[in-house]
Amino acid sequence: MKKGLLIVFSGLSGVGKGTILAELMKMEDLNLAYSVSMTTRDPRPGEVDGVNYFFVSKKRFLEAVKNGELLEHARFVDNDYGTPKAYVDEQRQLGKNVVLEIEIKGARQIMEKCPDSLSIYIVPPSIEELERRLRERQSEDDQTIMKRVSKARQELKELQESDIYEHIVCNDDLDKAIAEVREIILTEMKK
Ligand code: 5GP
Repeated sequence: MKKGLLIVFSGLSGVGKGTILAELMKMEDLNLAYSVSMTTRDPRPGEVDGVNYFFVSKKRFLEAVKNGELLEHARFVDNDYGTPKAYVDEQRQLGKNVVLEIEIKGARQIMEKCPDSLSIYIVPPSIEELERRLRERQSEDDQTIMKRVSKARQELKELQESDIYEHIVCNDDLDKAIAEVREIILTEMKK
């Protein structure tokens, strides 16, 4: 059986990547498997342990790093995030195309380890629009939103200075962005 793809899917928080991914996951022909990350962040209302993330203590996270359980890991704003390796390997062996929804530092580590991975970065139409969406979501306080917006500026600058992502998709129109990402994955699957 052909080994599944490793798809790195990134974008600033509030850009709509979660919504895009949720739609793509419903498309059976894409044969996707979502890699649930480990994080030290507290769950947001509605988030479920083992579904959105594995919510763990700092101690457990450090242990996972030490034991080599994580394919990559990075610190983002005030928390740690990492990709459990075993699930990714197992699903790819089964022919599933595994999606990693991760930030840019983790993405770099993946591209070094797995140069054949497919990488997609979702950008907002503007920083102002991103800030508006973050506020609309109402899941973070003001200070956290400001931190995330400032992180967004920094990350966009970094992105412009590098060319680590193979595909950059603008989420101006949700349906168009979904169709574009779908096409990128289908094209890669045919190779
Ligand atoms: P949030 O706290 O909004 O869920 O996620 C913050 C950032 O961490 C997002 O950009 C998200 O994609 C990224 N992230 C989530 N899981 C992982 C992971 O396992 N590794 C890395 N490097 N980043 C992650």
